[in-house]
Amino acid sequence: MPNSMTPGLAAGRLGPDEIAGNFADLHPPLGTHEAQVAADRCYFCHDAPCVTACPTSIDIPLFIRQIASGRPEDAGKTIFEQNILGGMCARVCPTENLCEGACVREVAEGEPVQIGRLQRHATDGVMARQGHPFERAAATGKRVAVVGGGPAGLACAHRLAMKGHEVTVFEGKPKAGGLNEYGIAAYKTVDDFAAKEAQWLCGIGGISVETGRALGAGLSLDALAEEYDAVFLGIGLGGVNALTAPGVALAGIEPAVDFIERLRQAEDKAALPVGRNVVVIGGGMTAVDAAVQAKLLGAASVTLAYRKTREAMPASRWEQDLAASKGVQLVFQVTPAEMRGEGAVSEVVFAHAESDTPVILQADQVLLAIGQRLAGGEGLQIAGGKIAVTGAGRTSLAKVWAGGDCASGGDDLTVTAVAEGRDAAEDIHASLMGP
Ligand code: SF4
Repeated sequence: MPNSMTPGLAAGRLGPDEIAGNFADLHPPLGTHEAQVAADRCYFCHDAPCVTACPTSIDIPLFIRQIASGRPEDAGKTIFEQNILGGMCARVCPTENLCEGACVREVAEGEPVQIGRLQRHATDGVMARQGHPFERAAATGKRVAVVGGGPAGLACAHRLAMKGHEVTVFEGKPKAGGLNEYGIAAYKTVDDFAAKEAQWLCGIGGISVETGRALGAGLSLDALAEEYDAVFLGIGLGGVNALTAPGVALAGIEPAVDFIERLRQAEDKAALPVGRNVVVIGGGMTAVDAAVQAKLLGAASVTLAYRKTREAMPASRWEQDLAASKGVQLVFQVTPAEMRGEGAVSEVVFAHAESDTPVILQADQVLLAIGQRLAGGEGLQIAGGKIAVTGAGRTSLAKVWAGGDCASGGDDLTVTAVAEGRDAAEDIHASLMGP
């Protein structure tokens, strides 16, 4: 792990006030009047394309109508019925590619209904109230193990608890939340929201969370399948893809996910060491989150280097524009060929797809965001590097289901993981209770 002793990295590039301002809420919540005005723009479409575009199929026109008619708590319940992590999804979903991208007002006028911010308005209201919005069904006497306390695992656990089952969530890290807690930019989820949401979700009862428990570290799939009536795996992608370029072992080079996790868990962001010249390699949301946050910590220059064209970049145009607006430079069609430096990295040499002249960037910190891979899954059928699933998360083992990033099919998004966890829970319930 880099520290202030790693050459080129330094803490305190910005003062606490500047850091606080830089990491403030990216989309501040709507007030009641603003929410009414935003809700009034909805046409309440029949066969609404926004609903089709939502991986959790939230009834968007219904919840917006409930806000418009002064019933925001009903709106929150409408959302949570489909997506119990609707609060986090309102903050981190790439809405520009999903509901808002499909909204008829986006298509006609280039300005969608602000579905994400309205969803946040409704869900925040419900979560701020005492008590939990759902009640558990009568106890079934069935016990289910959920491995992984990320979005898929939490969504699965909640739905199972609601059906009356007893659920134990095994989480390897010190806190539940998965990517929401450890892997997303801090400005998207301020005020410890991920931890609060996990706690709120478990408020339904019937869910116990055991942290510091991971498969392979004292926990075996065989033993869980023996002890519990069913097992759900939502273990995410714990491994990072390696880069093979010469010099990749130099100090100052690390996976972007490690940088983001350190930042998310830091008590004091101003005390985090960051490079003066930072290069981030990759083109997804993790790359953008790392690049923007390096800039917000006070790096003088941050370059995001991606191997394909802008159009092919997995991060949305909105995310690209956000990065550019924060001063991140985007460079396309470059592939890392060599990391140079004496002990610590000082420059990165890239080959350019359309030029024989290499691109050389000064760098005292390099963050690699070139994708993650499954760590674990032994004994299960694997497809495309992930746990093979059919239907609602059924794996090759009879009592074992899987969902979220670790499972085949679907995008690697929080909202997709929630949908898969929820649907697997319904299938587990049907399987445990019979026809
Ligand atoms: Fe409202 Fe847009 Fe959805 Fe139509 S597509 S229901 S206007 S949010």
